[in-house]
Amino acid sequence: TPAIVWFRNDLRLRDHPALQAALKSGMAPLPVYIHAPHEEGAWKPGAASDAWRHRSLAALDADLRSRGSRLHVFAGDSLQTLQAIAAATGAAAVFWHRRHEPCVDERDAAIRRTLHRGGLRAEAHNGSLLFEPWQVATRNDAPFRVFTPFWKAALAAWPRHTLNEAPPSLPAFERLPGEALLGHLGLQPDPRWDTGFWDAWRPGEQGAADALGTFAQRALHDYRDGRDRPDQPLTSGLSPHLHFGEIAPWRVVAELASIEPADQRFAYVRELGWREFAHHVLHHFPHTTDANFNPRFDDFDWAEPDPDTLRAWKFGRTGVPIVDAGMRQLTATGWIHNRVRMVVASYLTKHLRVHWHHGARWFWDRLVDADLANNTLGWQWVAGTGVDAAPYFRVFNPVLQARRFDPDGAYIAQWVPELRGVPAAARHAPWEVPRALGDIGRYPPQPVVDLAEGRRGALDALARLKPI
Ligand code: FAD
Repeated sequence: TPAIVWFRNDLRLRDHPALQAALKSGMAPLPVYIHAPHEEGAWKPGAASDAWRHRSLAALDADLRSRGSRLHVFAGDSLQTLQAIAAATGAAAVFWHRRHEPCVDERDAAIRRTLHRGGLRAEAHNGSLLFEPWQVATRNDAPFRVFTPFWKAALAAWPRHTLNEAPPSLPAFERLPGEALLGHLGLQPDPRWDTGFWDAWRPGEQGAADALGTFAQRALHDYRDGRDRPDQPLTSGLSPHLHFGEIAPWRVVAELASIEPADQRFAYVRELGWREFAHHVLHHFPHTTDANFNPRFDDFDWAEPDPDTLRAWKFGRTGVPIVDAGMRQLTATGWIHNRVRMVVASYLTKHLRVHWHHGARWFWDRLVDADLANNTLGWQWVAGTGVDAAPYFRVFNPVLQARRFDPDGAYIAQWVPELRGVPAAARHAPWEVPRALGDIGRYPPQPVVDLAEGRRGALDALARLKPI
């Protein structure tokens, strides 16, 4: 008897609790992927995510084929598709992993109820988190709103996870009625603006394992300080792999467990903790994908975004070099270094006073690691509207940030070629330097919004808000 293994954001064969559950049931695992972006509501996957998913699904299919099976791809209504597959094959069960995006979570609950009623075994497992969002709670059994106590509680309740190798062989099934071709799902951008991505990334389970191996060997030992340096490859680059479930977070922790020094390793695992926290917050406060966590900011005087200014931010032409470098890195590779994400987000929400929605949406479309939990948390945190807010209203100074974290202007020079000809020390704020020192070509000679003015505007808008 077949058991459907419904692949979603868990595109791997190792450490796959749903696949393991199917194998344990004694039934024959039937790997299925259903393309149903219309079921993800206002946050259907963006273009860069789709481009990644296309390649990750192809990699999963290849891995399945090397074991005698393959990925059966469908497009349409998820519930109807699962029911039709069960009817066509006699499948008695469906196994999958939970997702915590509010819309998907609701859909899945309804699917599970209906499948149960139809006599199928329908089981959702944890496949993506170290902790289920409800496994960590305050003493009063409430959700956490601040990271540090969340992480302390999490460390004290560390769950056991099982590591499994991929099954060496899996049964084959005939082509099923209604199957679609991966190439026909329209996941690849047209025109192909993503081609540059694939110099930087290799989607799929092997790509994830290689990224972890490289990080463990070359960068982990310097992670604590190195993670803030956008000019050096000192972070793991695992975010898209984790988002698509090409590697389980507990595998990451296990593989690093024996690597010294321990304090660097703990610093890294703590960042994985932010990912856990983001999912905890999304689960308990699902409205925050669209609404401020802190309602005090509902009256904040956001500026009506001027289309030219917004476009300048999106495509890296604001005249603030570190901001432009970040936004061009995004366009070119589908990813931005975390430190620079904070700087570009702060510039948009504080200096330009544009609502964080605009930034979150752009990231959502362009990031290969676009993740509703992490993106929402990141934007609300920088905007000052979210959980774990700083006690004061932080306005990052992009010039000071650049001088501190990209001291030689190497990151800026990499992504803003117009500034390669100016002395390194001048790249952080080229408007402060006489033009004679270097030709900046058509690069904006001044920031679109003066930094001091922008900062004042944000602080004034804050002062106009009613206290809580
Ligand atoms: P590493 O430093 O190697 O960290 C390891 C892993 O820990 C990451 O892969 C990620 O899964 C997790 N992690 C690290 N920092 C954070 C964090 N602050 N919040 C949540 N998880 C974290 N991350 C996403 O995965 N998707 C997003 O859509 C996303 N949007 C963001 C938007 C803004 C405005 C900001 C400020 C941050 C956002 N982040 C997002 C968090 C962070 O920038 C990325 O996870 C990180 O840059 C990924 O690079 P890495 O894998 O090399 O990180």
